[in-house]
Amino acid sequence: MPGPREDCLFCKLVREAEAVRRADGFVAIADINPQAPVHLLVLPERHVDTFRDVAEFPPDEAQRMLAFVAETAAESGLTDYRVIVNVGPGGGQTVFHLHWHILGGRPMGETL
Ligand code: 5GP
Ligand code: ZN
Repeated sequence: MPGPREDCLFCKLVREAEAVRRADGFVAIADINPQAPVHLLVLPERHVDTFRDVAEFPPDEAQRMLAFVAETAAESGLTDYRVIVNVGPGGGQTVFHLHWHILGGRPMGETL
């Protein structure tokens, strides 16, 4: 597996952030600028630039990443929530280490 990127904020956070949850190569942290009462980010320890490159994950690891997202939401008390991946600058991505947003704690259905 390629090592952490020295210039990557999320590779640093994977190592140093106070995690809400950490297991099995994945870390969940609170977003620094929350857009909902619960706003978590799930980061794989493996550096992958964007969701476009998700095929770089071995299939079992990709499956475990999805399970980790769902388990993190459930452990945060959420049954209904939104999962977002912004892909590329035009998709709203600002940090180029793949991450999953989990947003909840308020009705999420009103806007896309
Ligand atoms: P993106 O726009 O790339 O999909 O999401 C990046 C997210 O990372 C944003 O929601 C932003 O608030 C969050 N973020 C940026 N810098 C930091 C940081 O230093 N710590 C944490 N916890 N979140 C950050
Ligand atoms: Zn990284």
